[in-house]
Amino acid sequence: MGLKGRVALVTGSTSGIGLAIARALAAEGADILMNGFGEAGEIALLREAIAASFGVRVAYSGADITRPDEIIAMVRQAADDLGGPDILVNNAGVQFVASIAEFPAGQWDRIIATNLSGAFHAMKAAIPGMQTRGWGRIINIVSTHGLVASAEKAAYVAAKHGLMGLTKVAAIELANSGVTCNAICPGWVLTPLVQKQLDDRAAQEGRPLEEITHAMLSEKQPMERFSTPESIGAVAVFLCSEAAATITGAPISVDGGWVAQ
Ligand code: NAD
Repeated sequence: MGLKGRVALVTGSTSGIGLAIARALAAEGADILMNGFGEAGEIALLREAIAASFGVRVAYSGADITRPDEIIAMVRQAADDLGGPDILVNNAGVQFVASIAEFPAGQWDRIIATNLSGAFHAMKAAIPGMQTRGWGRIINIVSTHGLVASAEKAAYVAAKHGLMGLTKVAAIELANSGVTCNAICPGWVLTPLVQKQLDDRAAQEGRPLEEITHAMLSEKQPMERFSTPESIGAVAVFLCSEAAATITGAPISVDGGWVAQ
């Protein structure tokens, strides 16, 4: 229960990696402000399950991470309802796959707003409180695509490289304030975001899902298996620990060897 008394705001925590991070931080005793889209009844069940399993307070903000005003209100809500936030996990993210020539401008704007600008606005709102309290952990969920590129992912790769840069700037600015800022860079993690890419490609190429899954993994990762959302949650917990107090500005790869090549 190393995080008892801390408050964590995890964006995009109604699904996938964000939900696993919220659970992992709650398991260590942190109170949680959840955020993300979804059906109200299902979100209420997720909240209740985390609160009941780990004996922590769990609040929810429906803030749209493409909207700076809603992000500012979300950070204020964390402070008002729970205190903090002491831990900010910028995880909300979206994807769209097409070549640059075919890339819809609206999808470019949506991905940059969600995957990059949203993190900036949340950090701007949360950092002053962390500085005042003399302790904070900012964890940006980047991707291997913050370190290397792939075809047909222009907006995603640009946003994630930008988020890696933002992580480094924050690490330098906050170096002597008790606040660290790091990036987790996952390879393939089987979540709804990746399942959609698998389904789309299987439909496009008319090949069985199993074959497409094998192809997608082996094209990028020497290790032909998915990382789990829970393994990303465990890395987030480590980054919040005292052992990680001097790790800052770092990309932590959890990618089956993707960027080792
Ligand atoms: P997911 O689709 O399962 O979850 C995305 C979450 O973000 C959901 O809770 C969704 O409601 C929320 N969200 C999306 N747009 C939002 C908005 N405008 N406002 C508020 N919430 C919003 O996806 P995931 O695979 O769990 O991805 C989570 C993060 O991990 C993303 O930043 C993604 O880029 C990154 N990532 C994923 C993988 C992977 O293989 N799955 C690999 C590397 C990085």
